[in-house]
Amino acid sequence: MRNLDIFNESKQYMPGGVNSPVRAYKDVSVTPKVIKNGKGAYIYDEDGNKYIDFVCAWGPMILGHCDEDVVKAIQNTAAQAIAFGAPTEIELKLAKHICSTVDNVDMVRMVNSGTEATMSAVKLARGYTEKNKIIKFAGCYHGHAEGFLVEAGSGVLTEGIPGSAGVPKESIINTLIAKYNDIESVNELFLKYSDDIACIIIEPVAGNMGVIPAQKEFLVELRNLCDKYKCLLIFDEVMSGFRVAYKGAQSIYNVSPDLITFAKIMGGGLPCGAYGGKKEIMELLSPMGPVYQAGTMSGNPVVMAAGYATLTKLYNNPSVYDNMEKLSEKLQEGLLQIAKEKKIPMVVNRCGSMITAFFTKNKEVKTFDDAKTCDVKLFAKYFEHMIKSGINIAPSQFEAIFLNVKHTEVDIEKFLEAFKSFEV
Ligand SMILES: *Cc1c(COP(=O)(O)O)cnc(C)c1O
Repeated sequence: MRNLDIFNESKQYMPGGVNSPVRAYKDVSVTPKVIKNGKGAYIYDEDGNKYIDFVCAWGPMILGHCDEDVVKAIQNTAAQAIAFGAPTEIELKLAKHICSTVDNVDMVRMVNSGTEATMSAVKLARGYTEKNKIIKFAGCYHGHAEGFLVEAGSGVLTEGIPGSAGVPKESIINTLIAKYNDIESVNELFLKYSDDIACIIIEPVAGNMGVIPAQKEFLVELRNLCDKYKCLLIFDEVMSGFRVAYKGAQSIYNVSPDLITFAKIMGGGLPCGAYGGKKEIMELLSPMGPVYQAGTMSGNPVVMAAGYATLTKLYNNPSVYDNMEKLSEKLQEGLLQIAKEKKIPMVVNRCGSMITAFFTKNKEVKTFDDAKTCDVKLFAKYFEHMIKSGINIAPSQFEAIFLNVKHTEVDIEKFLEAFKSFEV
């Protein structure tokens, strides 16, 4: 039982045996699998079990595991350039590629994670507007920076912690919370604090309270409010960018944010993030302007090469999005059909290749409150059954199922067969 031995020993040296809490499977009664390797749509644990992977490293592995072009890019770059802390051509290539293929991005700043991207984008918005408060939505997750750890979705939600210890009140007094898909709740905040709101930050397709797409009119109204009150609209596309469509959620809704944050897919599986937007805003960043943000490892050549290989491959093969759409739709419809046959109350939300099956009696899931009606005990039972059946999904009701380009019809059928054999 190498799985169990390794994980138990890990608990002695790393809190919870993990380096990020969701991996510890705290809300399900299964010991986490210790993963040894992955290829395409499949991953293998230390006991030699094979799983069809629908976690995809929590989003990034859209090309499947160890895609040959990404591996080659990493190997070739690592042989010549690991880190210099100096400008390199490969960071230019990735920056130029993003700016020329994604709307509303004139310039980008590379960082090392989604957390860094969102906290830096908010700082930039405050620097630009010279205002202090930010509006975030209950159930949206924007990384683990202090000001965001209020009603922050998945990891924080499943553990039942209302935020986090170690965060002083002073760190969150400028964080205003509104309700997702509820424009009235945003209007109220503007009426109260109109002079001092620097930005609204939102996941345009929420993924961290389970998948909940924003309603179009809601995003349009947010854009109008930001224009009216001269504050910035930040789309946190860390999860949805290059995922729900190559050009991200903004292209689906046709609503233009002032700043956008990326991570996950854009690093091709290596630690990476970026934020970008209009030139006049981005030029406020140090060294050009007064907003300070830096990073020893930012723009690391190996990471940039992995990101460039991933994004160019996606961009040059737009049909992969059509294929994932088809398979995702098949999965969504299949889940609903089987749930109906089994008389399991369920709502399945989907945007492109991001899907969540909510175990709820609600007719729809449009807000965080809707998501919280889910039967998490039933989810835990379902999770246990699925992983035993060789289907790897996230161990929380409030996460997304992700497809990658290597998934086939057969993989989707296997997922559905596994669900069919689930006994409540
Ligand atoms: C994952 C995620 C983050 C945080 O990114 P890290 O790389 O884990 O720091 C921020 N925002 C959204 C929408 C995310 O999904």
